Amino acid sequence: MRETTAVLKQQMQAAASRAYNCGLQSGNGGNLSARPANGLYMVIKASGKSFGECSQSTLVTIDFDGQVLEGSLKPSREYLTHAAVYRARPEVHAIMHCHAPFSIALAALVDELPFVTHHMEMKLGAVPVLTVDAHADVVMAEHTTCFLSDHPGIKAFIHRKHGLFSFGTDIAEAEHNAELVEESAKIALLMRVGGFGDVSAFGAGARSE
Ligand SMILES: [Zn+2]
Repeated sequence: MRETTAVLKQQMQAAASRAYNCGLQSGNGGNLSARPANGLYMVIKASGKSFGECSQSTLVTIDFDGQVLEGSLKPSREYLTHAAVYRARPEVHAIMHCHAPFSIALAALVDELPFVTHHMEMKLGAVPVLTVDAHADVVMAEHTTCFLSDHPGIKAFIHRKHGLFSFGTDIAEAEHNAELVEESAKIALLMRVGGFGDVSAFGAGARSE
C-alpha cells in the first residue's frame, strides 16, 4: 500500500499546488483525494492544511469510514462526501473540492452551469447545483449519494454556498475539470455583467426558487 500511496501523494501535491496558484482555493479550505484502482481506501488532505503547503506529511490515508491507515494528522472532515462519491461512482479515482469564488457566486443564480463555451459543453457536460443546508457531515454525504443517482455520469457539481466538487480518473484530470468549471462560471458571470442577460439561454435552467 505504501508504494501506491506514495505515487498518489506525488500527483496530489502537484494538483494542489496548481489549484492554489491559479486561485481555485485560498487559505486552508478545500480538499482533494485519490484512491488506487483496486483499493477501498483513499489518500486525502489533512484537516486545516493549505493546498499551498501540501506535502507527503499533510496527506493521510484512510478507509471509507474515516479510520486512519497511514499518517499522523486528522483527515479532512469532508471525507464523508468523498467516500459517498467513491461508493457511488466506481470509475472515479480522484476528487478535487475547492471553495472556488466564481462557481459559488454563479450557483446562487442558476441550477446548472450554462454551456457558455463549446469546450465546456464537450469536455464537462452538465454541471448541476446541489442545494443542501449541510456541510461536511453525514447529511451532506447522504444528499450527495442521492444527487449522484439523479445525475449519473456527471464530472462535477457545485454545492450551493459551499464550493465545487470535480471528479477524474486521476487527480490531474479532476483538477483540470475544476479549472474548467471555475472558468465557465467566470465567463457566465462576465456575460451577465456585460449585459448579455439571462445565461440560461446558453443551456442551463435559471434558479427556480
Ligand atoms: Zn468545503
